[in-house]
Amino acid sequence: MKHILLLTAFFLLSLTVFAQRPAAQSPRPKLVVGLVIDQMRWDYLYRYNDRYGNDGFKRLMRDGFNCQNTMISYLPSFTAPGHTCVYTGSVPSIHGIAANDWIDNRTGKAWYCTEDPEVAPVGGSRRAGMMSPRNLLATTVTDELRLATNMKSRVFGISLKDRSSILPAGHLANGAFWFDDSTGNFITSTYYSSTLPAWVTAFNNRHLPDSFLSKGWTLLEPENKYTHSLPDNNPYEGKFAGEAAPVFPHDKLGHDYNTLRKIPAGNGITLMLAETCLENEKLGQQDATDFLCVSLSATDYAGHQFAPNALEMEDMYLRLDRQLAEFLHFLDSKIGAGNYTLFLTADHGGAHNSNYLESLKIPAGNVSEGGALKELNQGLAQELGADSLVRALDNYQVTLNEKKIASSGIDRDKIKKLIVRWLQARPEVAYVADMEHFENAVVPEPIRTMMVNGYNRNRSGCIQIIFQPGWYNGYGPTGTTHGTWNPYDTHIPLLWYGWHVPKGETYGTVYMTDIAATVAALLHIQMPGGCVGKVITDIVK
Ligand code: ZN
Ligand code: ZN
Repeated sequence: MKHILLLTAFFLLSLTVFAQRPAAQSPRPKLVVGLVIDQMRWDYLYRYNDRYGNDGFKRLMRDGFNCQNTMISYLPSFTAPGHTCVYTGSVPSIHGIAANDWIDNRTGKAWYCTEDPEVAPVGGSRRAGMMSPRNLLATTVTDELRLATNMKSRVFGISLKDRSSILPAGHLANGAFWFDDSTGNFITSTYYSSTLPAWVTAFNNRHLPDSFLSKGWTLLEPENKYTHSLPDNNPYEGKFAGEAAPVFPHDKLGHDYNTLRKIPAGNGITLMLAETCLENEKLGQQDATDFLCVSLSATDYAGHQFAPNALEMEDMYLRLDRQLAEFLHFLDSKIGAGNYTLFLTADHGGAHNSNYLESLKIPAGNVSEGGALKELNQGLAQELGADSLVRALDNYQVTLNEKKIASSGIDRDKIKKLIVRWLQARPEVAYVADMEHFENAVVPEPIRTMMVNGYNRNRSGCIQIIFQPGWYNGYGPTGTTHGTWNPYDTHIPLLWYGWHVPKGETYGTVYMTDIAATVAALLHIQMPGGCVGKVITDIVK
C-alpha cells in the first residue's frame, strides 16, 4: 500500500513537472498581434458566416478561443475609449480618454483625444500630425511589455485613424503610423521620431491610395449571392460624393483620399503596411516578444455611411474575411504558426439605421444634437434670462458653459435641475443623471456601472443622458452610429488564437477590460497601471 502511494505521488509529481516544462521553456510568444475591427458587431461573426472562407474568421473560431459574450463596461462606446480600454484594461474614469473629443472642465479647452500641441508632424500635414498619447493617463499592456523586458520588446501601432494607432501602442511605442487625408501618406509625429522610417517612405512612394481609388469598389461575387442585406438601392444608405445613387459599382470615387477610409481597400492598405512593418522591423525575430497593434477602420467609416443592412457591409466583411486569411498566412510564413498570439476584437458595435427599424414598427429614432442644444438653451434663457448656459450635448452628456454660469451669478445646481427636467420630458430620453450627485440617480444595472466607469470628472459632461433603445444622436436619415450602452453598441467579438491559446469557447460574460489583463497574464508581465479587468482564465490554462 505504502509503495503504491509512493509510486502514485512520484507519478503525480513527475506529471506536474512535465506539464510545467513547456511553459518554463517558452514563457512568451515571439509576437503578439492585437487586431481591432472598428465597429464590428459580435453578430457579424454569424450574420455572414455561411459566406466566409475557411482561413479567415472561421480559422480563428475553429482553432482558437471564442469569448462569445464580451461586453463594454463604460460609456460612451466610441473609438478612442474603445481602443484605450482594450489595451489598458481600464475605463474612461481612470484612463482619461473620455471620448474622441471632450472639453476640459477646468480650463474650457476643447480637446481631440490624441491632440498634442507640443509635437510636430513627421511626413504629413500640421493638422493630421500633431498627435501623441499624452492625454492617456494610464499605461497600456504594450507599455508594460516594454517595461518588463527593459525595452527589448518593440511595439508598433498601425491604423488609418490616428487615435487607433496611437492609443493601443501606448506611451513607449517604437512607432505609430496613421493616414493623412491631405497627402494620401502614412505619417507619424515627433513624439516618436524626427524622421519617417525609410520603409514607411518607400511604402508612401508606391502611391497605393491613387490606384485603389481609381479601381473603385465592385462586388466580390455575383449580386444574387448577397442574400443577407437589403436591395442595393435602399433609403437607409448614404452616397459617395458625386454618385446619383448608393449602388454598385462604386467606380467614380474621385481622388479625395478621405474616400479610401470607407472602402475595403482602406483595410487592405492598413494590413499591407502592417506586413511591411513586421518585415522591415523584423518583428518576432529576436529574444524578446514584440507587439504589433493593428486597427482596421474602413468597417467603421462604411458602417456610418451604409448601416448594417447594406450590400456594401456584406461585401466589406466578405473582403475582410479574405484579407484576414491572407494576413494570418503571412504571419504563419514569417513568424511560424504557433509562435504568435493574436486577439481579434472591436472597439464598439453599431446600431441599425433608425428609419429602417421604424419602418419595421420597432421603436427607434434619430436626434440632432445641434437642434436639441439650441432648444435647451432657448428654454433656459426663457426661464433664467441668460443665453448659452449649456456649451455642448456631445457624447450623450451635457457640458455646461462654466464661465458663463459663473459670471451670470445663477445658482449652478438650479441650472442643472432645470436641464435634467427638460431632458426627462423628451421622447428619446430614458434616464438623465447629474453625475456630481449620482447617489440620487435611479438607473438599473448594467447602465449604472457603465455611467460611473465612463464619468471622468475633468473630461466628461456633468449630466449623463441615456436614450431609449433604438435611438441615437445625429447621423441624419441614412447610415448609422454607436456610442450608447445598448448591446448592439457594446457586445463585441473577442477571438484568441495561436501560442498558448486553447481551442474552445465560452458564453460566460467577460468584459473588454479583461483583454489587457489576459494578455498580461499570458506574457507573465504586470497588468497595466489602471487595469480593472480580470484574467479570462479559460485562455490562460
Ligand atoms: Zn470605432
Ligand atoms: Zn464610428
